[in-house]
Amino acid sequence: MPDKDRQSGFLKPELETMSREARDAYLDGKVAEIVAYAYENAPAFKGIMQELGALPGDVKGVADLAGFPITEKGALVEKQRRELPFGGWCGEPIADLGRIYVSPGPIYEPCEAVYEDTRWSQAFYAGGFRRGDIAQVTFNFNMVPFAFMLDEGLRQMGCISVPTGVGNTETQVQALRDLKTQGYLGTPSFLAVIADKAEEMGLDLQKDLNLQVAFVAAEMLPESLRASLQERLGMLIRQSYGTADVGCLSYECHHMGGMHFAADCLVEVVDPETGRPVAEGEPGEVAATVFNKTYPLIRFGTGDLSAFTWEKCACGRTSPKLTRIMGRVDQVTKIKGMFVHPGGVQQVAQKFPQVMAYQLVVTRQAHRDVMTLVCELAEGENQELKLRMEAAMKEVLRVSGQVDFAEPGTLPQGCKIIDDRRTWD
Ligand SMILES: [Zn+2]
Repeated sequence: MPDKDRQSGFLKPELETMSREARDAYLDGKVAEIVAYAYENAPAFKGIMQELGALPGDVKGVADLAGFPITEKGALVEKQRRELPFGGWCGEPIADLGRIYVSPGPIYEPCEAVYEDTRWSQAFYAGGFRRGDIAQVTFNFNMVPFAFMLDEGLRQMGCISVPTGVGNTETQVQALRDLKTQGYLGTPSFLAVIADKAEEMGLDLQKDLNLQVAFVAAEMLPESLRASLQERLGMLIRQSYGTADVGCLSYECHHMGGMHFAADCLVEVVDPETGRPVAEGEPGEVAATVFNKTYPLIRFGTGDLSAFTWEKCACGRTSPKLTRIMGRVDQVTKIKGMFVHPGGVQQVAQKFPQVMAYQLVVTRQAHRDVMTLVCELAEGENQELKLRMEAAMKEVLRVSGQVDFAEPGTLPQGCKIIDDRRTWD
């Protein structure tokens, strides 16, 4: 297992351990500053403020942003199509940029000439990366920003980046062995592929390789996969959450239990319908405001659903944590006034190992929502199981519903988790 030094400490202690009051004051100042800057330099944001009848002086802090609209990715793409190349969201003259990325959408994204954002390196440090580590970046370097951001973040904290990109598994393994690479950056599933390939090549994963830490992203990380990879490779594996548009938003520390909000950006969890911040523990859309003058996205809606907690963490970081990413907002359905998401339905089903397939069907009867969890079972159905499942639905989803058992093979394979059959006419 990696040495103790990798399991504690901070990259930016002054930002990562500040008191809640100090953080609030810090973010208020940063928000007021970026709003004033974007108003002057990013015409798209000026347009939003004019529509609200607001002036930069009206935004003195985070609370004043609550009434601002959430800008979704789709709206950015639309705006760009009308106003190439950046739809009015670039805060600098094109001549001053460092790169332009071509991301799926398609959307053009401006990148600063000098990369000063420390959020990815905060995440690496929290995950155990240290100065002098050689780190293989196995994300895609072709057109899109993500791998470049990681490369910049690594070099910023004194790590040595090996930009291998995706694929070429055998060459990846050779490089891991020959360079005694300590760090892996990529998806968890590709790390598993690499481990299998290394074994196939006759290598001992712990003796012939020197992997100490992994930073994984872009995929769900099942705990069983984390445990097996950590064990096989003798390394620490930590995950992070962010998007190509707004960069790193949160990351796991040594103690895990969710992902700390990255310092130096504003992460909000908002009601996807109203854009208002939700309370601790409530599910909502993750929205981000970044303090990047090149690409000053303000209240950018990631489309991802999560919740946050203020629970104290043993690592000493004082920021709240995103508990977990629960799915996409566009898969969320409002039932009896509550947001129900596929992850919640999955959580209910997983409590009952005899459930082989399931689907939540939402209908409308006499102007009321009816929620039915249709399940196919491996073994005999009974009334007691039905009642226990209905209680679990109520507990997890906080909406009451009924359970119906169906003959195996009734539900189409790969059916969506929530089937909303309500009609409103
Ligand atoms: Zn922590």
